[in-house]
Amino acid sequence: MEALHSDVKEVLLSEEDIHQIVSRMGEQITRDYAGKNPLVVAVLRGAVVFTADLMRAIDCPMSVDFMAVSSYGEAAKSSGVVRIVKDLDTKIEGRDVLIVEDILDSGLTLSYLIDLLKGRGPASVEVAAFLVKDVTGKTPAIEPRYVGTHVPDEFIVGYGLDFAERYRNLPYIGILKPEVYQK
Ligand code: 5GP
Ligand code: MG
Ligand code: MG
Repeated sequence: MEALHSDVKEVLLSEEDIHQIVSRMGEQITRDYAGKNPLVVAVLRGAVVFTADLMRAIDCPMSVDFMAVSSYGEAAKSSGVVRIVKDLDTKIEGRDVLIVEDILDSGLTLSYLIDLLKGRGPASVEVAAFLVKDVTGKTPAIEPRYVGTHVPDEFIVGYGLDFAERYRNLPYIGILKPEVYQK
């Protein structure tokens, strides 16, 4: 049994929940990319854990590359500024690109990334987001082709998602206690 981390207010998705979601997404992607050879682009660092699971649920030829962008720094709120920290090593011209993201909030990070990658002449660019945050009154800048599940507008950690680089190793998705990031 996993011990509930004392900074976590509530567990939203258990390891078993996550496994079911990822399997379903893998099946959809496998079906849609049959006969193709997609390039899975994991957005570092948050999407690493999800990508590791998702790619093993994809049953067609594919390759993987990594990109690092920074939009949040160490704060809990988006700065709206996206900075490329590490670019792809792969040429994407003519490739079917599948961007894998941990969580979509405003969608600003992804909309910037999509525009950037589209400028390089890929055959297609789609997005697989494990989580989409439901923010009342706000529509995200983009609509991902593949969505794991929706989460409430709270600060989410675990399964790759951090606060100040902590909690990425939690095997579940949880809500961080506000007193932790309001300190
Ligand atoms: P957006 O540009 O969609 O507003 O923000 C997307 C990025 O912000 C995500 O990829 C993630 O790195 C970070 N982010 C947004 N919401 C959360 C959250 O609730 N928890 C964590 N740990 N990161 C978040
Ligand atoms: Mg991210
Ligand atoms: Mg982060």
